[in-house]
Amino acid sequence: MSDFLPYGRQTIEDDDVSAVAAALRDDLLTTGPKVDEYERAFARMTGAAHAVACNSGTAALHLACLAMDMGPQDAAVVPTMTFLATANVVRMTGAEVIFADVDPETGLMTAETFEAAREQAGRAGRIKAALPVHLNGQVCDMPELAAAASAKAIALTEDACHALGIENIGATSHSRMACFSTHPVKAIATAEGGMVTTADAGLAARMRSLRSHGMVRDPSAFANRDLAFAGVDGANPWYYEMPEVGWNYRLPDVLCALGLSQLAKLDRFHRRRIEIARLYDRLLSPLSPRLRPVTHGNRPHGWHLYAVLIDFAALGTTRARVMNALRSQGIGTQVHYIPVHLQPYYRNRYPNVSLPGAESYYSRCLSLPIFPAMTDGDVSRVVEALAHLLRGG
Ligand SMILES: *Cc1c(COP(=O)(O)O)cnc(C)c1O
Repeated sequence: MSDFLPYGRQTIEDDDVSAVAAALRDDLLTTGPKVDEYERAFARMTGAAHAVACNSGTAALHLACLAMDMGPQDAAVVPTMTFLATANVVRMTGAEVIFADVDPETGLMTAETFEAAREQAGRAGRIKAALPVHLNGQVCDMPELAAAASAKAIALTEDACHALGIENIGATSHSRMACFSTHPVKAIATAEGGMVTTADAGLAARMRSLRSHGMVRDPSAFANRDLAFAGVDGANPWYYEMPEVGWNYRLPDVLCALGLSQLAKLDRFHRRRIEIARLYDRLLSPLSPRLRPVTHGNRPHGWHLYAVLIDFAALGTTRARVMNALRSQGIGTQVHYIPVHLQPYYRNRYPNVSLPGAESYYSRCLSLPIFPAMTDGDVSRVVEALAHLLRGG
């Protein structure tokens, strides 16, 4: 490994490699026994009744939108401070995106910004769903959002891609579904991978069918009885049905084996992230108020990202200058995120959206390196480099 510090990276250990090697020698590389095993372990870990594995966080969000029956007559509220995929999956169903603003200090959608988006939406279509994002690992105020949404019969699906490992995230106590990613920078890694959790057995069954071409193999669900049943021996052995169009969003058995191995380490990874965040908090405090960590008080935090807000203008510098200087010293940083409503595709489609809270957050945010294998020395190195740059202007 080089001594370049990226803003995030996976932690793959020898037993993860062995788990994958063993799975590669099994008969079934795609739809094998590890899929079910991984789903059950994931459900147990998150406190969910059901977990449906799929091959990316984007696929997870798309499956959730499809399971909510989202279509061209509908609209969904999405906070603009998120990764592209949260909005794109809504468009994949043909529904319109209603961008919500965020709190300028946390980057989170709140009940107030959700209500404001809903009221401004006008005739954008029936608002069927909202997709709150637990940005950086900060948990949104779900009880408050759920109260505001249920008053208008709007379903909530959590984009929990930053929040795996936090207690109660995935249990969907205040939402219909929660979606996760296991991309290498996330809490655990399966190269590509995603998961949807839900308390609703019907939604889980529908998403299992949608992730594999819309195919159904449960004889009790077969519509075409003549083709399905030849005689007295039950359903024909080759028979399957497709009641609706689906995708190939399956997570291979080999990657489920990796997921199982990684999932057993989630608590350890999560505890190390908390330690790193506390160390950053302490070492960065002399740079306050010109630099301060993004937090939402004492609420649960997964520390997927360690984001800070910096008043670059007051310090006589720019974010690009700071990022380039850090990079030249072997320190990677990133900006999470460019508000999605500013992307050309969305600008063309929704030209008059103005979301000042998100633009304020965006102008100041910077994500510093955080991942479980970082040492305390690595954290000090980042803080020293940053302090030197910000003092020097
Ligand atoms: C990573 C991420 C996604 C997409 O997950 P992929 O696995 O990369 O498809 C969606 N939303 C958020 C907030 C993410 O961080």
